[in-house]
Amino acid sequence: MNVHDSQWLGQSLEGLGWEQGAESDAGVLVLNTCSVREKPEQKVYSHLGRLRDAWLRNPDLVVAVGGCVAQQVGEAFFARFPYVRLVFGPDGLPMVPGALARLMREPGLRLSLLDFSEAFPERAPAHPEHGVQRQAYVTIMQGCDNFCAYCIVPLTRGRQRSRSRETILAECRELIDRGAQEITLLGQNVNSYGLDATDKDTGQGDPGFPALLDAVASLPGLRRLRFTTSHPKDLSLETIAAFGTHDTLCPHLHLPMQSGSNAVLRAMGRKYTLEHYLDLVMNLRRVRPEIALTTDLIVGFPGETEKDFAATLEAMRMVTFASSFSFVYSDRPGTRAATMEGKLDKAVKAERLKVLQDLQTELSEDWLRRRVGRHCEVLVEGESKRSARGLPSWRGRDEFGQTVNFSVPSGPAQDLIGKIVPVRIQEAKKHSLWGCVEVVG
Ligand code: SF4
Repeated sequence: MNVHDSQWLGQSLEGLGWEQGAESDAGVLVLNTCSVREKPEQKVYSHLGRLRDAWLRNPDLVVAVGGCVAQQVGEAFFARFPYVRLVFGPDGLPMVPGALARLMREPGLRLSLLDFSEAFPERAPAHPEHGVQRQAYVTIMQGCDNFCAYCIVPLTRGRQRSRSRETILAECRELIDRGAQEITLLGQNVNSYGLDATDKDTGQGDPGFPALLDAVASLPGLRRLRFTTSHPKDLSLETIAAFGTHDTLCPHLHLPMQSGSNAVLRAMGRKYTLEHYLDLVMNLRRVRPEIALTTDLIVGFPGETEKDFAATLEAMRMVTFASSFSFVYSDRPGTRAATMEGKLDKAVKAERLKVLQDLQTELSEDWLRRRVGRHCEVLVEGESKRSARGLPSWRGRDEFGQTVNFSVPSGPAQDLIGKIVPVRIQEAKKHSLWGCVEVVG
């Protein structure tokens, strides 16, 4: 979501005549921040500290801090860093282009945009002239009502607010008209899309995520559709069935498991059991046997025993995740887990993380090896740094979300960026695949 927010802001400012440049010669710097773990939050402070020298050389430098750390720390940034002139939370983003323009006109002014809006914070369309987006993100909701024990998101991004169906569909249609091949629907918990919305005239609830997914997947001209993030407690059988009925829906799902221990899942407040999670996996593989499943895992949650940790490893083996994001637990201010007893030693958490990541490496390498000899469709993102026998080579992502580098054996040089190209996989590398184009359309 932060990548998408940053893209929108960059394109909106370009639309107003601003230019993106290197940090070393920028007049305005915007840091879009994440506070989901402690480490990225610390990075914000060290980055801001390093900007002091740049500000001493150029006292006109304007620094804006946005995103979840800004929402959490707020105007306290002003006291600590004299060159921070704007702080904005996720709901304040639509007003940032206007606020930056005002700061340029009024030296000495400082602004904060930290209020939560009641409805989805709709933004003006970004400037369409700045490049075709072949892979586009479309936000469908903001915030979250789940309050998982470890998570700061409901405090920094606010409660769930769904965006109107009509607006989402209109944005998707416009992106497709402008050349988008792939759309990813974004939200903290897309599966509960619409549950917060009731039609004012009829008093009826929104038909929810499966209906939205069906409508987007059926849009003419769309080649690929993805969505993230899914909460296992809200992933419905109807949504799973969509993987069997819509070819546009890519065979990849990111489904955060967090832990394979029911005791830890309960303490986390995740509201599902491992058995429920495995049932979802079974149903997904029934409708799309080849689906790639990826996940998030937290290691060393307060009270996690060796037995709990072993259950997580066992669950990873059962599901055979293609890849995972894994982190050691860190306290986030204001969350329930921050006050829990049973905090684990740093060394124990680090050791468990290593064991878990070694296992994931084995599972990922196995997943990549099983792809060798298979056909896939790669949406090309750019030229590849890898090359085979001096042939032109390209890189992109296949329908499973996997990075694939491939060569084009012969024929006239062509620009393949943004095209979907059939590729035969020849070799599994450590984190990617290598292949050869079959036919260039
Ligand atoms: S569902 Fe996701 S975003 Fe919401 S509180 Fe839980 S972990 Fe955080």
